[in-house]
Order: sequence, then structure tokens, then C-alpha cells
Amino acid sequence: MQAAEKGLLTGVQAYPIFPHNAVPFISLVKADLKFLVLQYGADSDEYLACLRHHPEIVVVCMSNHQNKTGDQRALVHELMAHNLYNPVVFAQMYRHSQEEKADFQLEAAADMGALMIDGLTDGVWLMNQGDLSDEDIDATAFGVLQAARLRTSKTEYISCPGCGRTLYDLRSTIARIREATKEMKGLKIGIMGCIVNGPGEMADADYGYVGAGLGKISLYRKKVCVERNIDEKDAVEHLLRLIKDDGNVQQASDS
Ligand code: SF4
Repeated sequence: MQAAEKGLLTGVQAYPIFPHNAVPFISLVKADLKFLVLQYGADSDEYLACLRHHPEIVVVCMSNHQNKTGDQRALVHELMAHNLYNPVVFAQMYRHSQEEKADFQLEAAADMGALMIDGLTDGVWLMNQGDLSDEDIDATAFGVLQAARLRTSKTEYISCPGCGRTLYDLRSTIARIREATKEMKGLKIGIMGCIVNGPGEMADADYGYVGAGLGKISLYRKKVCVERNIDEKDAVEHLLRLIKDDGNVQQASDS
């Protein structure tokens, strides 16, 4: 995705993609950016030499191996062992119906997440054979990228599951705050049940909404408590005002 964005910036609308057995023909095609599909275990001499002469090639790494993560990791390590640092996009085909959306999300996150967090990938390419909507596939890809801290595309929320210490309606409050802040891309908002453990568990949030007692809420900016013991019925409004007063509403919608 990141590589494709670079292409759009230069005004190019489409780029060629080559299967691994088309390596001999890649240099015959003129393009700012090219994609080459590779699988670990293929005869590597030819593609390693090709990548060395063509830094414009983005490797599309696919795997049918039972251990996809290990297979893809091995390919990237092979490139690194030969001092090749072409961008790598991990691509994977799934087979899920709309009813199996959660399975798709879980599998994609498990297949891609570890490799991203280890810094081994520059993008993801999720495909699905089934009636899963394109919107759900795209949302999953952006969700995986955001969870791995590679690309921020939406507001992020941190919340606890709630327990006996939660003295307000956590679930409906999360829904209200999400609805009110969903356009604030880039902000991280913590919504925690209690003041005992909540501030520590949302330590890297930009703002925190934390239960402070029966029907009472305290608000945090980063790690600092800035409003204490607000009535629960007014607390979401206070949170929104705090974000707005900090100038983050405009910044968030612009980013
Ligand atoms: S943060 Fe507090 S309310 Fe939430 S689960 Fe932890 S102890 Fe319970």
C-alpha cells in the first residue's frame, strides 16, 4: 500500500506485476514501480540477481505453507542475507463468507501481524474468495496496519473489559465515545472502568475517560488527570470539549 501511494504521487496510475517465472522479462518493461510475486523455496539465484539490479521492484510475498508466517519470514531473511532491501508486501488469499468475517479478521491479523511488528513488511495485500465485502477486506487491512503501528487511519481506543470495580455503564459509554470521536483519526482514547488500574493500563493514550466512583468520571490528558469526579451524565461532553480546546478536533480531521 505504501509503495502504491508513492506511485500515485508521481502520477502513475498502474504498475505491472510479474509471476516469479517471468523474471527474465522484467528489465524489458519500463515502469517506475514493478511488482514481483515470490514464494520462499523457489530457485533464488535468478530473482536475487534481478532484485539487485532493480530496486524499483516491490516483492509480493505469498505462501501456501502450513506455517505461512515462518515461510514469509524466511523469504525476507534470505533477501536481507544478500543485502537486498526491496520493499516487501505480504499477500494472502483467504476463503471466507460474510458470516465468517471475524474468522477472516483473526486469520489475517495472525498471519500478518507478527511480521509487521518485527519490521519485515512494507504493506499487506488481503484477498478473499467468498462474498466478504471489499469494504470489510479493506477495513481489515487498515486495522492490521494500525495495530502494527505502520499506518494510522482511524481513531484508536483502549478499554478494559470492566469488572466489579466498574461503577458506570462501560459498554454504552464506549459506544457513545466511539460515535462522537470516530472522525478523530490519529487520536488514542482510553475508556477505563476504574481509577485503580485504568490510568496505568491506558498509559500511552492521548485522552482518558476513567471511572472515579459511583456515577463519577475523571478525565486525563496523557498521564495527567485534568478533571476529577465529573457526573457521568456530563462526562462525555467534557471529554469532547477537552479534545476540542486542545485543538485536536481540527488536527484530527485534517490528518
Ligand atoms: S481497569 Fe479497573 S474496572 Fe477495568 S478491568 Fe481493570 S480493575 Fe476492572
